[in-house]
Amino acid sequence: MSQVVQAELVLKSDAVFTGDGLSPFRGGVAIADGKIVACGDDLHLAPFIGPDTDVREFGDRLIMPGIIDSHTHFAQGAMTTDPDFCVNLIDCTSFEQVMERMRAFAESHPDNEWLVGVQAIQFQWEVPEMPSAKMIDVYISDRPVFLSQVDMHTFSANTCAIEKVGVTRDTPDPVGGKILKDENGDLTGIFSNNAGALFMDQVYNPPLERAKESFAKTARRAVSYGITSVGAVNPTFVSLEDPYRVFADMNRAGEFPLRVFMYTDLFEVETMTLDEIRAKYDFPGSTIEWNGFKQFIDGVCSDHTAWMLDDYSNAPGNAGEPAEDPEHVRTAMLKACEWGVPTRIHAIGDRSVRYVLDCFEEAERLYGKRGIRHCMEHDETVQPEDLPRFAQLGISPCMQPWHMLLDMGDLAKDDAVGPDRAALSWPIRSLLASGANVSLGSDFPVVGIEPMEEVYGAVYRMLEDGSNPEGWFPEERITMAEALRAYTYGSAYAMGVEDRLGTLAVGKEADVCVLSRNLFECEPAEVLDTVSELTVSGGKIVYEA
Ligand SMILES: [Zn+2]
Repeated sequence: MSQVVQAELVLKSDAVFTGDGLSPFRGGVAIADGKIVACGDDLHLAPFIGPDTDVREFGDRLIMPGIIDSHTHFAQGAMTTDPDFCVNLIDCTSFEQVMERMRAFAESHPDNEWLVGVQAIQFQWEVPEMPSAKMIDVYISDRPVFLSQVDMHTFSANTCAIEKVGVTRDTPDPVGGKILKDENGDLTGIFSNNAGALFMDQVYNPPLERAKESFAKTARRAVSYGITSVGAVNPTFVSLEDPYRVFADMNRAGEFPLRVFMYTDLFEVETMTLDEIRAKYDFPGSTIEWNGFKQFIDGVCSDHTAWMLDDYSNAPGNAGEPAEDPEHVRTAMLKACEWGVPTRIHAIGDRSVRYVLDCFEEAERLYGKRGIRHCMEHDETVQPEDLPRFAQLGISPCMQPWHMLLDMGDLAKDDAVGPDRAALSWPIRSLLASGANVSLGSDFPVVGIEPMEEVYGAVYRMLEDGSNPEGWFPEERITMAEALRAYTYGSAYAMGVEDRLGTLAVGKEADVCVLSRNLFECEPAEVLDTVSELTVSGGKIVYEA
């Protein structure tokens, strides 16, 4: 008699990718009690199949570990992708079109307190500038309007919105942000970086039931793409008192099927003890877990807010500047490192990247090499001499290739940094080759949460319409196996949970997805519309097409 456990669920197909980077094989995965009990070929699975086992055959579909999106601002993303909460402006080609869309939304949503427009790409408008308050007032003046640029670094508000939040010409610039004024010192209605926060508190504070609806809707969408875990990084960009508590309550009630790994505000190290922070973010009995800290050091290249070693090519005398006082970030990072808590820092410019690596290096000198899973977010411009330092210091680069597709489309980055530094952009292949653990994520809602856009970007580095088939710096392309590994094992490792997630291996949590195509054998365009047919989290089916 065999002593092996009888599986509750067995998923089989011609293409099983375990997440370890090897090619897919014919076989499957057996699941019992929420865990993977076997993964291998049909012969290997046979003893685990009993009379009550639910065996499913998926033919040429791809069975792989649940996708782990390491970098999201999930709470705000859920709201900004809810068409009853805000208007998406990503495809608008003129300011007039933006305002016509905003006016139509205002009419169909008479009870919305704020008229919110998101993902505006002003660079593709006829006049490529974010609008002033006066310009918006011409269209809508009786209700508050708040527009966000696609990368969330520039914002516009109308006069009604400015009055509602009480900003005046005397309001000082917040740290890391600018309230733009005209030559007379009057408000223009344009706000950069942290100055947008003057509005966010009110804009992203809907009634709780409304927020829950957006959270549930978005979690359902995530699992329909095969995502089973997300990193939720500071800031939440919403002013609900504690969105994580809401996720946890919903999760316990079976209404929120994702695992969430929280990375909360690094600057809390200044006002709270480690025990207090742990207690604040402790949600027992849920899959919402606190994992560490996150902060920013700079902005983005396209609007010159990324902190560079040398001047921008299209803005002599301007090398950007840090969004936060670097000394402030350094002190907080050292404290977190002393506590042994994983810390993630947003660094886009090559000077920021170097600065953050220096801080982690200093921490290693002071407190020793302790294997803490620190990460650096975005890493969009890395000088060659800094590349090997990620692996040496054990810092996982967390990359978002869809951002690259955006910059590739309008050549905003090429223009901003010039050809030599553009060639150092999103060096995913170089980082992998240096031995670094690369993790993939979306930065949702800066872009959508759809993982295949990121996979496509990393593997092909070409525009979705196929107009640059030779690719953008194609030497930095990675293979499909590498991209999927980075989105599963790479993310799990970056977040220190690779002992229980990230690969199809015996003893791990049964987080599995079955994608609608074998990504190893399809055309680039087909990658983009690949979705999940079945998503399993902790052994439970959480999505079925
Ligand atoms: Zn982010």
